Amino acid sequence: MNLPVFHDDPVCAECGHCCSSTVPGHTTPEQWGAPDKDEMVRRMTDAFQSGDWSIDWWDGGIGDHDGDVLSVRPRHVDHPSKQLRDPTWGGHRCVFLTPSGCKLPANERPMCCQTLEPKRGGRCVTHLSKEDAHRLWIPYQQQILDAEKTVGGDPDDYYYDERPVGWW
Ligand code: SF4
Ligand code: SF4
Repeated sequence: MNLPVFHDDPVCAECGHCCSSTVPGHTTPEQWGAPDKDEMVRRMTDAFQSGDWSIDWWDGGIGDHDGDVLSVRPRHVDHPSKQLRDPTWGGHRCVFLTPSGCKLPANERPMCCQTLEPKRGGRCVTHLSKEDAHRLWIPYQQQILDAEKTVGGDPDDYYYDERPVGWW
């Protein structure tokens, strides 16, 4: 997958606001080791145990795929710690956002974050949409379920909150 990435852009230094003012970016399966499925389960299990990552999903089918599509993204702050699933969007801060920006190394950020093209005036351009990211996850649904099961996650226990709160 050849997508443009934008690291340490001076526009971001001026902005300091971050894409997560609305919602954390989504990762891609390659960032967890795909196509090596065992490696993916190992890495996602560790991530879920860290408490910094959650399972989100695309409601309904994408293309020929029927049903919801799971994916992995950073947690929101104030997320109840025992709930791994979190479809929340809008107005919640990403767990990795600090006053000086994202605390993850640039090349370890979710691919939706790395491919967001910085533009002044809040006009940043998305090169990997939420739907695009979920389409990439379709072949790896079982690996997310396996990692979730390993950490004792309950697919029916999830947290949803779209309170319009400030970014910080
Ligand atoms: S990607 Fe956009 S919103 Fe995020 S810090 Fe950079 S300029 Fe600001
Ligand atoms: S991972 Fe980093 S760049 Fe992505 S939403 Fe969170 S703070 Fe922003």
